[in-house]
Amino acid sequence: MRKTILTFFVLAAISINAQNKTIMKFELPKLPYAHNALEPVISQETIDFHYGKHHQAYVNNLNNLIPGTKFENMDLVEIIKESDGPIFNNAAQVWNHTFYFESFKPNGGGKPTGKLAEAIDKKWGSLENFQKEFNTASTSLFGSGWAWLVKNKDGELEIVKESNAGNPLTKGLTPILTFDVWEHAYYLDYQNRRPDHVGKLWDIINWDVVSSRY
Ligand code: MN
Repeated sequence: MRKTILTFFVLAAISINAQNKTIMKFELPKLPYAHNALEPVISQETIDFHYGKHHQAYVNNLNNLIPGTKFENMDLVEIIKESDGPIFNNAAQVWNHTFYFESFKPNGGGKPTGKLAEAIDKKWGSLENFQKEFNTASTSLFGSGWAWLVKNKDGELEIVKESNAGNPLTKGLTPILTFDVWEHAYYLDYQNRRPDHVGKLWDIINWDVVSSRY
């Protein structure tokens, strides 16, 4: 039996442990594209490490941390909202990376559609202005973290920066888009040139997916 945790592909498999007790194990979600499909914006090598090693490690760490705690049968969003310390860090990184990798597709880019396009124009005047401000948030974030486009409780868009594993769900905000600006997201391809990496990400955005989150 499997339970859908986030959109269509963060899964938790239900299994039985050595004590014959039912436990929930999170699983690394499948990517909706091949590891080399986002080249040249993100190389196969970066996907191999970022998805295959880093994302997998957060899943493994979470599965090792939660047995025997009150979190062991919670869904991922509940864990993120109620935990702190290592459990929060790993749970949020599982969610953040799933959301991040889902936002891309080969030959993406272009423009958002529908209500999201209207909301961006209303807030920033144009897609270009929004992208400029999002790039600035991404490049000015000191150290490791995430830049987020979110919808607040009034339905308005905001750009927020979160350090480390930070996730806007903990502040009652609805995530729409995120850029991972941890060095592991770009260092193999762009070394210290974070602005170059961030600028190129717009070419692989899957606006159909991102627009549907608004
Ligand atoms: Mn990352």
